[in-house]
Amino acid sequence: MHTQSIPQISAALQQGQLSSVELTQHYLNRIERYNPQLNAFITVTDELALAQAQAADKYLKNGTAGPLTGIPFAHKDIFCTQGLLTSCASKMLANFIAPYNATIVEKCQVAGLVILGKTNMDEFAMGSSNETSYYGPVKNPWDLQAVPGGSSGGSASAVSARLTPGATGTDTGGSIRQPSALCGITGLKPTYGLVSRYGMIAFASSLDQGGPMAHSAEEVAWLLNAIAGFDPRDSTSLEREPVDYSAQLNNNLQGLKIGLPKEYFGEGLDPAVDTLIQTALQELEQAGAELHSIELPNTPLAVPIYYIIASAECSSNLSRYDGVRYGYRCEEPQDLMDLYQRSRGEGFGAEVKRRIMIGTYALSAGYYDAYYLKAQQIRRLISNDFAQAFQKVDIIAGPTSPTPAFNLGEKFNDPVKMYLSDVYTIPVNLAGLPALSLPVGLIQQRPVGLQLIGNYFGEPKLLNVAHQYQQRTHWHQLTPTHF
Ligand code: GLN
Repeated sequence: MHTQSIPQISAALQQGQLSSVELTQHYLNRIERYNPQLNAFITVTDELALAQAQAADKYLKNGTAGPLTGIPFAHKDIFCTQGLLTSCASKMLANFIAPYNATIVEKCQVAGLVILGKTNMDEFAMGSSNETSYYGPVKNPWDLQAVPGGSSGGSASAVSARLTPGATGTDTGGSIRQPSALCGITGLKPTYGLVSRYGMIAFASSLDQGGPMAHSAEEVAWLLNAIAGFDPRDSTSLEREPVDYSAQLNNNLQGLKIGLPKEYFGEGLDPAVDTLIQTALQELEQAGAELHSIELPNTPLAVPIYYIIASAECSSNLSRYDGVRYGYRCEEPQDLMDLYQRSRGEGFGAEVKRRIMIGTYALSAGYYDAYYLKAQQIRRLISNDFAQAFQKVDIIAGPTSPTPAFNLGEKFNDPVKMYLSDVYTIPVNLAGLPALSLPVGLIQQRPVGLQLIGNYFGEPKLLNVAHQYQQRTHWHQLTPTHF
């Protein structure tokens, strides 16, 4: 049952060959069996899942079901879920029961998706390996010694091991695409503003974007149909005509121009990853696409300026965790300063504190112009690089991550090395563009992802290219051996 795709499960549900309760129970059993090894879920919502599945079965019987009705699903623990723990994998929020649903959660509920639980992640979505979670690291189902990537590592691990057909993730600098690559699944970071951020706990608001993770581009398209759209409660949400993201999956790729940035294939790229990416590109060429060499000259500046901008925004966003209004409060504070200092000192983990300190420094009087303002100017240059490239090509392609999954602990004490694992994903967030990662092979049983970057609102094209690749290959259908 769990090897079926979302469209296949949907058909079985609609035709009455399967009930949502049976299906949901099957996934809950798999979570019970495998989650202790993977630590992909922080919360499993068995009772709620079965109640939602029962309701879904009613809609399926009386003919009011939509395409996603009754299909199990999971949310990253960064999305507020009414009445359920919403921890953001931090001690700071380990007692926080959200009083309302995030728009993305509400939209999934309206579409009939059944919530299995909340997935593990890096604390406040800061990380590339899912090792900063207060609830402990997540394991990669392809190799339990390896990280699943981060920060949406719980969602990627759970989808990859088939503990859920799909999940939400969020991507500030790569956190949907990089774990998708490292766990061998398909994940899409939409255009900034396409999916509402209301109820999504803020890390760096000008970069954060929620999106879907599943096995194939077709499934991602179905999920995007449910979660995209204007939301008046998010002031950066974009008002546009609704689009059917699965309508263009079968377009042929004849004459499609794919740009290959030379900066994405240089020093630092694992040669074995390069080989698999080249093979995938040849496959797209055989499907009719043309490959063109392009340049994105400001790429080397992306990681340094990201760590100024993202840290500056996080230092501001995370100031709300003061021990007063909600979240963790220290025991017996002596006075107000002691309350602030110990609540924040005890509630946040080391990586979060590092970012708050960097951000506070970059925003302080006297340094603002030298760091923050300069970073914003360079951000514009990076966007301009992409704008120029998209005058020549339809999409851009390259590796999602310079290496396959690394081992747990390998980069944990070397933040700069860790930060460099996002070199190819971060520029996309700085420019607000859509991008997708899809699996294109294995290196010693560890998956490799191809990244496709589109122009603003280019999601249909990205999904089309990924789907055409997936029609010709089997990488997205693989399940890690022990699951
Ligand atoms: N790894 C990057 C960071 O730690 C990106 C995280 C993300 O996209 N949420 O900031």
